[in-house]
Amino acid sequence: MATDYHMHTPLCGHATGEPREYVLAAQAAGLTEIGFSDHNPMPTQFDDWRMAPDQFTEYLKLIADVQAEFPNYPIRLGLECDYLVGYEEHIRHLAAQAPWDYLIGSVHYITPSWDVDNPKHLKKWTEQPVDEIWTLYFKEYTRMAESGLFDFVAHPDLVKKFGHRPEGDLSRFYTETLNAIAENGLTMEVSTAGLRKDAKEIYPSRQFIEMAYARRIPIVINSDAHSPAEVAYEFKQATALVKEIGYTKVMQFKDRKAIPVDL
Ligand SMILES: [Zn+2]
Ligand SMILES: [Zn+2]
Repeated sequence: MATDYHMHTPLCGHATGEPREYVLAAQAAGLTEIGFSDHNPMPTQFDDWRMAPDQFTEYLKLIADVQAEFPNYPIRLGLECDYLVGYEEHIRHLAAQAPWDYLIGSVHYITPSWDVDNPKHLKKWTEQPVDEIWTLYFKEYTRMAESGLFDFVAHPDLVKKFGHRPEGDLSRFYTETLNAIAENGLTMEVSTAGLRKDAKEIYPSRQFIEMAYARRIPIVINSDAHSPAEVAYEFKQATALVKEIGYTKVMQFKDRKAIPVDL
């Protein structure tokens, strides 16, 4: 019953391959259900890694078309939404614009001008203590979990992408965020994308997943595919890890409802 709900389309400008190629890759990998979730449009052209505001209907059509092409294969409609303070109304507006199966919450921006996973800002990591950057990131992530806007939250410790990690026990960064995820009934993404980055580790860390398990936070395993070859990337490793920690179920998503299924 393997699924992959975090897959992009060329509309974001940094993904390759047509949706139908992602579907064929998913079928070849033995996935039973998938979902597309491209980066959400902002009210204006906010940066260079998302669809333009006037491409939103094109996105919906792209997914409707691929659903029509594969009528017997469940393809869900999702959106990866950037959480930024001040844009909550915009997300609510988007939520009402389509029959979403799920909305993903992500924190990329730790300030309005710093998308923390963007290599063009790598120099900033030398200008501020890593501890401070991690604190900023998890503060935003906690707010996102408390916003009530999303169905699951993506790549929880994305801030480690380039391999910057503070010293010592990192649970000091995780506790508040995990409490917020648990209290707000959210599902947490376990993303294999981190294995493809300098972090060389699944998002989130094993310790983070263990702390999530202790709070009975449900999970979903995703690849964050930006090309067909990345669909279901290293899912064996992710499945083995979460099983070792104790998980026996993952969530499936339809009509903004999460349904537990056996791993
Ligand atoms: Zn992306
Ligand atoms: Zn993504």
